[in-house]
Amino acid sequence: MKILIVEDDRDLAAQIATALGQAGYTVETAHDGVAGEYLGATETIGAAVLDLGLPGMDGIEVLKRWRGAGLAFPVLILTARDAWSDKVAGFRAGADDFVLKPFRMEEVTLRLATLIRRAAGHATVELVAGGLVLDTATGLATLDGMPLRLTAFEGRLLRYLMLHKGRVVSRTELSEHMYDRDSDRDFRSMEVVIGRLRKKIGEARVETRRGEGYRFMPGDPA
Ligand code: CA
Repeated sequence: MKILIVEDDRDLAAQIATALGQAGYTVETAHDGVAGEYLGATETIGAAVLDLGLPGMDGIEVLKRWRGAGLAFPVLILTARDAWSDKVAGFRAGADDFVLKPFRMEEVTLRLATLIRRAAGHATVELVAGGLVLDTATGLATLDGMPLRLTAFEGRLLRYLMLHKGRVVSRTELSEHMYDRDSDRDFRSMEVVIGRLRKKIGEARVETRRGEGYRFMPGDPA
């Protein structure tokens, strides 16, 4: 799952990027409104963290353009001003939630996890497929109650597959959510990681559909 951060305070943007990276997300960062608007409109992203006061184009205008273009990904707004008028303008422009500066990073990661889960149609913090459980807030997974040791990449992959369990996810869609813009999107290495993940969670949980992609089983495999 890729998160776009649009924040002109570079230190703050880097702190958020680090926290989201640790929470198991892929991150793209823009430091002005024009670049942020462009990345949101052209990259496949799962959610955005958007500052309101930005050089080039303010956050409300960025959000209006995304929504005007039919982009529905969840947007968490960061604002330094506890002004009701900013919140009204933000919600009218299509924001999903707000965080007031200064904030704790945990608040951003928790609110984002909630927005992403809801956008994918899940009502609880945990994603469940039979005996396999993934806590989307902490990134920790268990199989039949036993903790699973997953690498960051395996965790990202599992999260995306479980959010979309039961439907076929193409390799292109998966790679767009798993890799940074600049990295090579290597389908063969994706296949290798899927193989390692299968060994940890059970081979039959991820079905390969030849020529189509992967399907995550909604329950325990028979
Ligand atoms: Ca700012």
